[in-house]
Amino acid sequence: MIEAMKQALEALKPCKSCKQEKPTSMFGAKVNAKDGLQPYCKPCASAYRAQWNSANKERKAERNAAYRLEKREQILASKAIYRITSKEKVSLQQKTWAQKNKTTINAIAAKRRAALLNRTPLWANKSYVADFYRAAEILSRGGVQFHVDHIIPLQGNLVSGFHVENNLQILPAHINTSKGNKYEQSI
Ligand SMILES: [Zn+2]
Repeated sequence: MIEAMKQALEALKPCKSCKQEKPTSMFGAKVNAKDGLQPYCKPCASAYRAQWNSANKERKAERNAAYRLEKREQILASKAIYRITSKEKVSLQQKTWAQKNKTTINAIAAKRRAALLNRTPLWANKSYVADFYRAAEILSRGGVQFHVDHIIPLQGNLVSGFHVENNLQILPAHINTSKGNKYEQSI
């Protein structure tokens, strides 16, 4: 009863959207409005909000897609730059390491050379041996480095091989290096 009276006494306000006269309780509050109320009734306001949200969602999705595309190109570009610079960095690091360890490298190379001499019997065919090194050098021109490897190592733990043509094989450098014969090529 009191509620009904209150409603009857309640002023009506036209909604700017649906143009219907509705009780002021059907309008939300708006601080800086003259009557302190929203211009649109609550159902109109919520319909408008839903519409705005869905329109905004599409705009947002479009923006995100564009951002991702731009980001993808940026990522690809930075990856390419990283590949180039890191390659230079790695080769510089290798050069710096080689320069710093020149004495060690030379010592190992000298030891290997001495071992080669010690392990070269009179019956070795020096021309055939040289052919292996020439072949490895020619193969390496293709871009992949090839080394001459001793099938039985010259300084093996159990047996030591000879520096002779039938103890030689040509291997891609990465395989040979993983065998531990890093300075084979410099000999
Ligand atoms: Zn309305």
